[in-house]
Amino acid sequence: MQSLTNRSKVVSNKQMTLVERLYIPAILGGMRITLKHFFKKKVTFNYPEEIRPHSKLWRGVHVLKKDDQGRENCTACGLCAVACPAEAITMVAEERQPGEEHLYREEKYAKEYNINMLRCIFCGLCEEACPKDAIYLTDRIALSDYKRDTFIFTKDMLTESTDNRIDIDVRRKGTREGAN
Ligand code: SF4
Ligand code: SF4
Repeated sequence: MQSLTNRSKVVSNKQMTLVERLYIPAILGGMRITLKHFFKKKVTFNYPEEIRPHSKLWRGVHVLKKDDQGRENCTACGLCAVACPAEAITMVAEERQPGEEHLYREEKYAKEYNINMLRCIFCGLCEEACPKDAIYLTDRIALSDYKRDTFIFTKDMLTESTDNRIDIDVRRKGTREGAN
């Protein structure tokens, strides 16, 4: 059969010598490679005790931002869900009621907002699509778990808390400038 590349090798069927049958050269060769790497600087990290430094372009777990007055920015327009190539975002919209102006910035808000982290590929398109500066990808690493249910991140898990504000705007701005 004609070969499509020149990388194929002809396999030898010759009898192995006694030394080859003892595998001594192969064992010594393997030990030489092991010793060569033994004294090199370790490249592994003891995660989660040690966390590897991230690139400035790192995109981690999402956060739903609030404005300076602690009101949710998201208006449940659905643009992030439409932009998401993994179809990871789902939401239920609700009209804001009189007296809820201190909770929601817009007249419509997301009553439910879920991201399936098993689907998410952390591409950042949801962040790019959002017209309300409501969703950002943070530098938090996605958690690991044994149960699939725990990877459905609900609105409660995603919304930033008032006493733990995340200065994403500044960080992402620096990221974009650094990327340019
Ligand atoms: S980061 Fe990408 S894949 Fe993940 S939710 Fe946003 S748009 Fe979807
Ligand atoms: S996060 Fe942004 S794009 Fe997504 S529904 Fe809320 S306002 Fe719209």
